[in-house]
Amino acid sequence: MGQACLFCQISSGQTSTEFLFENDTLVVFKDINPAAPVHLLIVPKKHIRSINDLTEADQPILSEMIMVAKELAVQRGVAESGYRLFINVERGGGQVIFHLHLHLIAGWK
Ligand code: AMP
Ligand code: ZN
Repeated sequence: MGQACLFCQISSGQTSTEFLFENDTLVVFKDINPAAPVHLLIVPKKHIRSINDLTEADQPILSEMIMVAKELAVQRGVAESGYRLFINVERGGGQVIFHLHLHLIAGWK
């Protein structure tokens, strides 16, 4: 989708957004409007609009998103205390950026 998509721009390094993690498949950065003390977005580099658009071939991307989220929870010190992982799907599910992403939120006392 390229230029029209904010998360394509961010994940391809075209913005000043700082990555907490990056590999060939995905990037992780802080949510600009955090809903909790820790709020990270795990974003595949491939443009996939939403969960509805996943294909069989995308399965490795999805599993990598979860595995990286698990590692980031350890890095941010919230693995033991706990965290929430969620994906909003389309407008009715609260999705506002139509490029697949996994939220990791944590840090409530
Ligand atoms: P969703 O509602 O699941 O589509 O979530 C989109 C998320 O992206 C929201 O939590 C926004 O705060 C976040 N967001 C929007 N623009 C940016 C940005 N430039 N950098 C980081 N996070 C962003
Ligand atoms: Zn995109």
